[in-house]
Amino acid sequence: MNIFKRWMGTKLHTKILAGLVAGVPLGLILGPDAGVVEPVGTIFIRLIRMIVVPLVFSSLFVGTASLGDIRKLGRIGLKTLSYYIVTTAIAISIGVLIAGVFKPGSGIDASTRETLFKSYQAEALENIDIASHKPGIVETLTGIVPENPVESLAEANMLQIIFFALLFGIAATLVPGDRARPLISFFDAVSEAMIQMVHIVMKMAPLGVMALIAAVVGRFGSEILLSLLSYSLVVIAGLLLHMGVIYSTAVRVFAGMSPLEFFRGIRPAQLIAFSTSSSNATLPVTIECSQKNLGVSEEVSSFVLPLGATINMDGTALYQGVATVFIAQVYGIDLGLGAMVTIVLMATLASIGTAGVPGVGIITLAMVLETVGVPLEGIALILGVDRLLDMCRTVVNITGDASAAVIVAASEGDLAAVRSGRGSEAI
Ligand code: ASP
Repeated sequence: MNIFKRWMGTKLHTKILAGLVAGVPLGLILGPDAGVVEPVGTIFIRLIRMIVVPLVFSSLFVGTASLGDIRKLGRIGLKTLSYYIVTTAIAISIGVLIAGVFKPGSGIDASTRETLFKSYQAEALENIDIASHKPGIVETLTGIVPENPVESLAEANMLQIIFFALLFGIAATLVPGDRARPLISFFDAVSEAMIQMVHIVMKMAPLGVMALIAAVVGRFGSEILLSLLSYSLVVIAGLLLHMGVIYSTAVRVFAGMSPLEFFRGIRPAQLIAFSTSSSNATLPVTIECSQKNLGVSEEVSSFVLPLGATINMDGTALYQGVATVFIAQVYGIDLGLGAMVTIVLMATLASIGTAGVPGVGIITLAMVLETVGVPLEGIALILGVDRLLDMCRTVVNITGDASAAVIVAASEGDLAAVRSGRGSEAI
């Protein structure tokens, strides 16, 4: 009874962490049978995904309609895009540089290479095939304009939803006040109800996270981790460096926020990102943490975060930098400065218009490899540890989005106003 009471009184992020830690032994004990607990995790992911579309649409509409100043929208858009592009380019550069310094690819001998190829060739070909069918940059850009917004909502096409919600919000500001008010109040209530739904669903998070981690651990072969240990460590070190140096400095310098406060506030979302490997699925939690724990206004967070979940993937970009250099090293290909610059440009472009879902980074990697002439089949070399690294890079992806929300809000004077009235941590 005492333990039960104490558990009920524990903060949610501590409970999620406990679920995450408990998932490891559970996965080890169950081994490949850990799949039996996976449905619990799948239900949890589906529950939060269920909230994404109505939450993003309603809060972005309300945010825009109550903005009152279209120029502010333009400013927020410009700042957000600039921050996303600059941090992504820094992330890839860090990836390329540390892979160049630590040379993880030079430790892979011929026999390891053969084993990796044999085990993952089929999966690699599947990914290459998907990449070859991806739309080009012009198609991606024209595809942002929906032909049918109901279809965009049904397919959860985030960029189209953002586009329509923004235009709908702008249009609402042109409707006379008393006629527009019921429309805005309706969607305001929808968005509030969705936030309440996030709170309800998050009660299941510790259990869901435990099941997801157990399933990953149960399926994971530790031999593969050993043979790709130095590669994995270089990726993880790069990710930590990017978070610890770039985001910490950015929130401190541009928003005057202590990095500790920032990381503490975003922690629940990081735990969910790590367990689900999907920045899209984590989106409702990222939005809630940014608003309630970090003090970002609804206006800013409802625009910056859904956009970030789709186009801003610093973790993925950094990993692509390391992976490209690693594969080139294994093949003995010397990448010159020109190729390095191409990697930075290509990986930035490749991440635009790609939804933040598990494993998408490996598909866009194929596009990067192609442009610098590294054999695409090399993907087979790194697939064995991809799930684990996907978990880590997704944490960085959502942390980057949240840092943008904090910085843009601070620059618009939208952070301090909410911050001063901030209550206890929401989730
Ligand atoms: N899983 C990542 C995300 O959702 C994308 C990737 O790197 O595969 O943000």
